[in-house]
Amino acid sequence: MNDCIFCRIVQGHIPAKVIYQDEHTLAFDDINPQAPVHSLIIPKRHVDSVHELQESDQALLGRLLLTCNRVARDKGLSERGFRLVANTGRDGGQTVAHLHFHVLGGRHLGWPPG
Ligand code: 5GP
Repeated sequence: MNDCIFCRIVQGHIPAKVIYQDEHTLAFDDINPQAPVHSLIIPKRHVDSVHELQESDQALLGRLLLTCNRVARDKGLSERGFRLVANTGRDGGQTVAHLHFHVLGGRHLGWPPG
């Protein structure tokens, strides 16, 4: 999708601080961090959101979560913990329509979200 910011990051057309990538996933730091650690984990293939995932995406979803785990570990969050967020749709606060997990950590995070 040429008009998708995250697809353009996957293609290397928009710069990003890439932390990790494999055949199917890409992890990079958020441009507007909300915590000392704030990274985004995305599928390289365009999927709009969690809501569009299909049965056939089971392996991709597993890979995404393992990449989240890897990023959290590499960013030093294993001991204190972290939060995974997948804002979905308008009421979920999703602003970029390409499936992504936020990995947030490095400070205590409040609950519930606003
Ligand atoms: P959402 O609001 O959809 O859950 O999260 C989108 C996230 O993408 C936001 O935290 C926002 O700061 C981040 N973001 C938007 N555009 C860019 C960009 O061009 N580069 C990077 N690294 N992050 C971006």
